[in-house]
Amino acid sequence: MSFSDLGLSEELLQAISELGYEAPTPIQAESIPYVLMGRDILGSAQTGTGKTASFTLPMIDILANGRAKARMPRSLILAPTRELAAQVAENFEKFATHHKLSMALLIGGVSFGDQEAALDKGVDVLIATPGRLLDHFERGKVLLQDVKILVIDEADRMLDMGFIPDVERIVSTLSKMRQTLFFSATLSDEIKTIGAKFVMNPKVISVAPPAATASTITAKLIWTHFKKKREVLRGLLQSEDINNAVIFCNRKRDISTLLSSLKRHNFKAVALHGDMTQSSRLAALEEFKNGESPLLIASDVAARGLDIPSVSHVFNFDVPSNAEDYVHRIGRTGRAGREGKAFTLAVPNDDDKKLVKAVEELIGAPIALMENAITDSDEQANADNASTKQKDKSVKASNDDVHQSKKANAKRNEHGELRPVAWTGGNSFKDADHIPAFLRSA
Ligand code: AMP
Repeated sequence: MSFSDLGLSEELLQAISELGYEAPTPIQAESIPYVLMGRDILGSAQTGTGKTASFTLPMIDILANGRAKARMPRSLILAPTRELAAQVAENFEKFATHHKLSMALLIGGVSFGDQEAALDKGVDVLIATPGRLLDHFERGKVLLQDVKILVIDEADRMLDMGFIPDVERIVSTLSKMRQTLFFSATLSDEIKTIGAKFVMNPKVISVAPPAATASTITAKLIWTHFKKKREVLRGLLQSEDINNAVIFCNRKRDISTLLSSLKRHNFKAVALHGDMTQSSRLAALEEFKNGESPLLIASDVAARGLDIPSVSHVFNFDVPSNAEDYVHRIGRTGRAGREGKAFTLAVPNDDDKKLVKAVEELIGAPIALMENAITDSDEQANADNASTKQKDKSVKASNDDVHQSKKANAKRNEHGELRPVAWTGGNSFKDADHIPAFLRSA
């Protein structure tokens, strides 16, 4: 199968070959001919499968003839996060180099003025997050009745983030005479029910999630003490042959704590989470993409759908609370046939045991245990957790002390945090005290 078999125009085939794409991915091969035919799509595909091009490429050809009127976009792509929307826009720009199509990106954190000016000129493609689009809509700055193609991308993430009512409101203002392309990483019953409201007689297309096919990923599970997670992570960062890595945490506050901890230990790292301003999110992502910072500490929402090429390692600092996020997280590595490694740190308490079980059920196989990893009894882990909580309290007390009397406890750093205790788990992590130069901040 080659791109020229799919019915795309010469201009697009040229742009595709200039980008170096040799053959369509399965989702592209399956969906492009149907989109060109004008059919609705109900597609299950994750990022990393080439899903974005599977709708952007045929859209460019469909929209090639015709002109947009002021404030009346001809097509609309809804994406759950700013980063994902920006990424779709980047894709459009790359593919449409030989076309004269106009595009506007409506995302939070960018001034309304520029976005309004773009809308006023008339746009062929409008890419937006639901909230920002509704803001413009309510101010009367955009009219949606001319939208002929609607894309709803990452519908399951829209659902997780509570955006479905906004999407329903937006769709209720569109003409019924439109083509709808609905994509979700998974097609659960709930997502199918939601999708059915938007599409008509869709072609259902489902491609295997990258994790299910990516035999290039080596995944390992490490049971460790709660209070030793950072130390274990540092050990892995030092002993693994890392090119660049994404470190996932479940909570935003843990991202900040881990970031300062890694920096204190002279690692170069940046953070990415939903509470950061748009400009600092984009700056962090750029630093990571251009290699200035080889480590990115991220939350699921912020990282979902990001196109980060060739990540050598993924670390789950926490077992994800949603098993599907495990697939998304580790799908950041081992892309396009490259080798990748994924490590998951888990604490042997009931919560993590349940979460690990859910992940293993979803992927249909146990995650290989890291050699030499400690396996603790529940009692021990619970004791650790309890003592950590106790220490957290004393850390707070100590913080107060530090601020008030400036007398830091010898075992605490300048932030009043407990210094990591020496590794006593009896494995090889402790031997790796050398930080490779490019991971080092100073
Ligand atoms: P996506 O799943 O849309 O996020 O795409 C994942 C990555 O694959 C992006 O970096 C795309 O530029 C790239 N890509 C998409 N389609 C192809 C293709 N047919 N050949 C090679 N790379 C591709």
